[in-house]
Amino acid sequence: MSKGLPKRSEDYSLWYNELVKRADLAENSAVRGCMVIKPYGFSIWEKMQAELDRMFKETGHTNAYFPLFIPKSYLSKEASHVEGFAKECAVVTHYRLKNSDDGKSVIVDPDAKLEEELIVRPTSETVIWSTYKNWVQSYRDLPLLINQWANVVRWEMRTRLFLRTAEFLWQEGHTAHATAEEAVEETVQMMNIYAQFAEEFMALPVVKGIKTESERFAGAVETYCIEAMMQDGKALQAGTSHFLGQNFAKAFDVKFATKEGGLDYVWGTSWGVSTRLMGALIMAHSDDNGLVLPPKLAPFQVVIVPIYKGDEELALVSEKANEIMAELRKVGVSVKFDNRDTHKPGWKFAEYELKGVPVRIAIGPRDLANNTIEIARRDTLTKEQFDLSTQPIAEKISSLLEIIQNDIYNSALSFRNEKTTEVNSWEEFKDVLENKGGFISAHWDGTPETEDKIKELTKATIRCIPIHHEEEEGKCVYSGKPSSKRVLFAKSY
Ligand code: AMP
Repeated sequence: MSKGLPKRSEDYSLWYNELVKRADLAENSAVRGCMVIKPYGFSIWEKMQAELDRMFKETGHTNAYFPLFIPKSYLSKEASHVEGFAKECAVVTHYRLKNSDDGKSVIVDPDAKLEEELIVRPTSETVIWSTYKNWVQSYRDLPLLINQWANVVRWEMRTRLFLRTAEFLWQEGHTAHATAEEAVEETVQMMNIYAQFAEEFMALPVVKGIKTESERFAGAVETYCIEAMMQDGKALQAGTSHFLGQNFAKAFDVKFATKEGGLDYVWGTSWGVSTRLMGALIMAHSDDNGLVLPPKLAPFQVVIVPIYKGDEELALVSEKANEIMAELRKVGVSVKFDNRDTHKPGWKFAEYELKGVPVRIAIGPRDLANNTIEIARRDTLTKEQFDLSTQPIAEKISSLLEIIQNDIYNSALSFRNEKTTEVNSWEEFKDVLENKGGFISAHWDGTPETEDKIKELTKATIRCIPIHHEEEEGKCVYSGKPSSKRVLFAKSY
């Protein structure tokens, strides 16, 4: 129960791990770095998927599915792509097991070696572009706007539930276009969709920006991203959208007959968000009592807990609860009535607090007599006695859910604003990073050398070059060389 949850201020990382487990979101599996996503956690992910899928389809994309296994030779066709992913690849070498000679164990059958080894996809550009080669002949076949929902495997060394796992669930969009402009437009559009999803549904403010060369996706010309701030002031890359130029088209020989009668390579993009978003959601809003879920992603938005002694009182309270449930469901509010008599109301209160249910309604015999109910907000932990004769309950709860959604967003936004500091000297940079943390907006000379040096000295990396930052003459905070724009530094997950 929530009583034992570690405090954020004492051990943020332990708080997070414990919360994920105790709120029934996920747990570690037998294979290091892999996780079991439990039903409660998975239903949040399903809500995320549903909204994102709707947004993708509204912008003309359709879903397809490509295989889990990629021939090893495919991966090596794009040089920087293979270099970026080689260290994290799981490889399938055999296709059969057999009993050992002593019959006591099962071993890999040496006679069942694959002719060509297979890579478990770390991302699907290679297999998809090898397919697109057959799908694209002329400008009439373009654009191809395809998304897939899938799992991928990256053999990560330091893993953490949801934030960085060896196998994760995600969506990956892969599009092909006739012009560079159109592909860039698509890349930016998808970054904007991710930002809109994060802000409207996750109540998570994000900074939109461009990655520096060293943080760029392996094989991309430009990587756009959204970066969010967690409650410990660290940054989390929450989504990426890549302009691939003609890199994969060249590697897989995907050419098309242009309108003008010529022959050209296709322009590509790819973009993805993963179950890492679950980690972002948890870390951004939750508190020492447990999860705080934005109403738009909560598996159920309202829980009704009856307070009663004996069957007779329960029957009366249930009647009222059923009436309220019917009203709420009519307006699309999801509600659960927890009438289990195996647990006391106090236990249930703590349980739903831990699980982040946005609104809790309690109804007891005194409420029935007074035509009232108790309404408690999870985000502020405040309670009110609500007189049912003053306003239709559906109206009251719908507007409360909207208020909660906005309030959660606004408190995350003011937290981020407080923890974002403009810095103009190296001393100040180190001081802010050490004592305040958060995002640092500072000038950088644009070189990977300076970026590396700053990372080495402080562990802070350039999260992105924010697209909302105006040009501004200044001097690099480390080298003193001229700079025309501030970038965002932070320690990150
Ligand atoms: P990428 O293909 O590297 O641009 O990553 C696409 C998306 O997957 C980004 O939103 C990343 O934040 C996320 N991601 C990358 N690696 C992992 C991982 N090991 N676990 C969970 N999410 C990840």
